[in-house]
Amino acid sequence: MEMETEVSGEKQIVVLLIGPPGSGKSTFCDSVMKSSHRPWSRICQDIINNGKAGNKAQCLKMATESLKQGKSVFIDRCNLDREQRSEFIKLQLLGGGPHVQVHAVVLELSAQVCISRSVKRSGHEGNLQGGRAAAVVNKMLRSKELPKLTEGFSRILFCYNDADVENAVKTYTTLAPMDTLPSGSFGLKNPDTRSTQPGIMNFFKKVTAVPASSSIEATTPKAHENTEDVLPVSPSKLGSVVPTTLAFPSISTADFQFDIDKASDIIVETAEEFLPKLGSARLVLVDLSHGSKILSLVKAKASLKNIDSARFFTFVGDITKLHSQGGLRCNVIANAANWRLKPGGGGVNASIFKAAGPDLEAATRARANTLVPGKAVVVPLPSTCPLHNAQGITHVIHVLGPNMNPNRPDCLNNDYTKGCKILREAYTSLFEGFLSTVEDQSKLPKRNNQATASDSERNKKYKGTQDMAIASNMKSGTVDDARDGGKKRSKGWSSWALALHVIAMHPEKHENVVLESSDDIVVINDQYPKARKHVLVVARQENVDGLEDVGRENIKLVEEMHNVGMKWVKRFQDEDASLIFRLGYHSVPSMRQLHLHVISQDFESDHLKNKKHWNSFTTSFFRDSVDVLEEVKSQGRANVESEAVLKGELRCNRCRSAHPTISKLKSHIRSCSSHFPHHLLQTSRLLARPGTSN
Ligand SMILES: [Zn+2]
Ligand SMILES: [Zn+2]
Repeated sequence: MEMETEVSGEKQIVVLLIGPPGSGKSTFCDSVMKSSHRPWSRICQDIINNGKAGNKAQCLKMATESLKQGKSVFIDRCNLDREQRSEFIKLQLLGGGPHVQVHAVVLELSAQVCISRSVKRSGHEGNLQGGRAAAVVNKMLRSKELPKLTEGFSRILFCYNDADVENAVKTYTTLAPMDTLPSGSFGLKNPDTRSTQPGIMNFFKKVTAVPASSSIEATTPKAHENTEDVLPVSPSKLGSVVPTTLAFPSISTADFQFDIDKASDIIVETAEEFLPKLGSARLVLVDLSHGSKILSLVKAKASLKNIDSARFFTFVGDITKLHSQGGLRCNVIANAANWRLKPGGGGVNASIFKAAGPDLEAATRARANTLVPGKAVVVPLPSTCPLHNAQGITHVIHVLGPNMNPNRPDCLNNDYTKGCKILREAYTSLFEGFLSTVEDQSKLPKRNNQATASDSERNKKYKGTQDMAIASNMKSGTVDDARDGGKKRSKGWSSWALALHVIAMHPEKHENVVLESSDDIVVINDQYPKARKHVLVVARQENVDGLEDVGRENIKLVEEMHNVGMKWVKRFQDEDASLIFRLGYHSVPSMRQLHLHVISQDFESDHLKNKKHWNSFTTSFFRDSVDVLEEVKSQGRANVESEAVLKGELRCNRCRSAHPTISKLKSHIRSCSSHFPHHLLQTSRLLARPGTSN
């Protein structure tokens, strides 16, 4: 076997595409295979089993056969962790022989991009659709490990944006059968060069950035694909530097019991203020727990403010082991210190002093003996310190925040006016301290933050998206679930899916979108209205993410939501008496925070683009508010429909006739004047003024 292929003189390659669903793996293969002169075989796990999804063994078998036929091979599956990849790397030995090179092409797009694409596409082989897509992508990213040359790859190429992908496609398309590509790891970041590439969407023009499943309401922030400061880098630029990075814990929210929501505002606002002063330096909020509430709040709020997620992001891990365990390179870490600047007390303070050893105590003493709340002190670490030589930490900045815990010194007794002021001062002192180290380092030869190739490579993982950074590091930190008392979380909500939640918690900060607000509800326009009139009544209460969370204790709330919804129907019908409405909930929401859709039944909207959109408002997936109220009262919970119904036929909401495409359906409903189905005419599910044709 080996003889045959060697005699041919062709240099076969196995290319593993690495990326979550929606990252563009299949499109990448198709683009290359369309115009390449090299014989390629694409092994796609999603269709390997006679057009249906298969398993790894089938992929390996088919890849081996293709190699034996002298073809080069694309392995089109997620390949996100090392173990998943290992057997494909061995293909070298199975199928071809030592002359077969194994490459990795890593599609590191922002999680938001991947999610919105996987949700959107309907005809894709992977068949990953619907509200589950976000959860699936997030889950996969959580177990992701970036490939390393030591796994056995001869070449690794990272792509972060459309230009990178385009270049990579070109590289493989033009690679003649007898040629090989240089070995090594490529795509390293050059932190001094910023580029504003058009989003990756522009390259894959046929994939349009359409909001997820049923409807993405409200202020969905744009994915950050435009802000990534990565350029395709030639081998000569190998060894570029890692930007100076501060990792900091959330100050005062653990033992000092400071309100997490208020703290997250202060973190985001202070970070936003400092980023412009920090050059290319990065700020990273770290917490041990993957389900950390402070991390998700900060992430969502930063995303709403469109803060560059390459320079300010959240990370799950042990702050004393970020480099060795998490692969995140930081030069400076902050310590949530006590006023005596002494070890002990548990939490971050104890673990930082422990990891740093006596060096940190001595170096701290040389600077200060005590600290007042709101202040920070920068302590350089000697190179003998284990935190310095093993983790690359050159400075620790001690910060003391405000205390709301009556069992600790200087308790503010819930005086949040004072508390917020002090916390803001604390972060300001911290970031100023960090800024002083950044300025110092820029005067020095870049020795401390000179990265090895593999460091930079690992570092890539964290610059792109917060989700990836958060997701990739489950294993490294010990899991600390105590703080949130095991409440349900970690549902895989992406940042954009939290937008409603953020508005509901703080309507006063989103006055531009809020139509009405009270203690219990907020009313906003759906950002992507699916009809002439389409507003959302959003619950302001915490912990009711969707219909499934509603119980008897929420009866008052759902009644209030219904009444507010009815008021808006009246208001709209006063303007236009021909409008007919339904009030209802999606069985499985695409955005967190219980919300009632108030939607007119004309469905005249350019935002209504696909079957999923249509079926989410016109099938049993849409739960009428009157029914929800009745069910919660009588049985303590509302029934929810499975997402499977979203895949059903496109049927007119009046006469129930079926239509092959959304555009045919839309032209039918423009003229259909049949009565609405009988069940809708009962118990005021359908809200029409007398005399309108329903
Ligand atoms: Zn919704
Ligand atoms: Zn009809």
